[in-house]
Amino acid sequence: MSSGPLDRYWRVLGRTERARYLESKESTVNVSIEAGDEELMRAHDEALEGAQWRGRGPALLEVKIELARRAMMRCVLCERRCYANRASGEAGHCGVLDARVSSEFIHMGEEPELVPSYTIFFSGCTFDCVYCQNSDISTRPRAGAEISPGRLAKMISARARSYTTPGSLTHDASGAANVNWVGGDPTSNIRYILETMNKCDANLPQVWNSNMYLTCHAMNLLRGVIDVYLTDFKYGNDECAKRLSEVDDYTRIVKRNHLLARDDAEMIVRHLVLPNHVECCTRPILGWIADNLEDVKVNVMGQYRPCHHAMNHEDISRPLRPSEYESALRIARDLELDMTL
Ligand code: SF4
Repeated sequence: MSSGPLDRYWRVLGRTERARYLESKESTVNVSIEAGDEELMRAHDEALEGAQWRGRGPALLEVKIELARRAMMRCVLCERRCYANRASGEAGHCGVLDARVSSEFIHMGEEPELVPSYTIFFSGCTFDCVYCQNSDISTRPRAGAEISPGRLAKMISARARSYTTPGSLTHDASGAANVNWVGGDPTSNIRYILETMNKCDANLPQVWNSNMYLTCHAMNLLRGVIDVYLTDFKYGNDECAKRLSEVDDYTRIVKRNHLLARDDAEMIVRHLVLPNHVECCTRPILGWIADNLEDVKVNVMGQYRPCHHAMNHEDISRPLRPSEYESALRIARDLELDMTL
């Protein structure tokens, strides 16, 4: 879709292209919003494939919101597939009912390409990582503030209006280059995120910052609205994923979703190097990226510190050694991966 890993992203920042969610508000879908699930999804997919419909009908983004609302009634947003009726107050594994914003601020610590990033942290997570670096957020799904989608949309618009290029004479530190949806993990809150986009008119790229354990259905709801997938590829095998994050079938699901994301938008793939996991996780992950994901940016991260319950697991109970991080970087360099700035 572009000649460089983040070309389209830069064009949106340069105001020569629009964020994709804005287009999904303008394309109409040849369906009634009250149609059955299958018909609604079929019309949604046809609209995404470019089927032109010039008559009356709901906007593509409205169809996505309705599909997300229905998905929450037997929740299948992530591959835990709890089937909880969250609309009736039944919590699933993540514990998330209504969206709670744990914090929102201009993040200067993200990849240089994304800074300054308006980062919206949701409470709760679909994973149970024993070494979670954000456990105060991920393990408390009912903490945080309830902010209406309309109000959050206004907050986003204010960040967009005050964005100027860092370093310019008119630089305003309250401005943002993008909206960065994260947690915990944002997957449980897809409906709320789409509703916020529906109330927003800011031409800001939308960044999906996630563990990528979504169902295909949820991935489909993101299609056509996300500009950059900022993914967290954690494990190179299912045993490590099960033991350290309590998830099943990790590698098949996360690889599948990386391929879906690659086909939909631009990507930055993150990998946090864990102590004692260079051979079992880092090497196979980076090898898979080299073999399967052309034209993506990769961030090999070395800031691991033992947090949360990490001390109960001997292999990850210490910080990463510089030699381990050097090994990880050498693997990435040998594979000629395109690293973030
Ligand atoms: S988003 Fe939460 S409730 Fe829904 S399937 Fe995943 S863990 Fe279960």
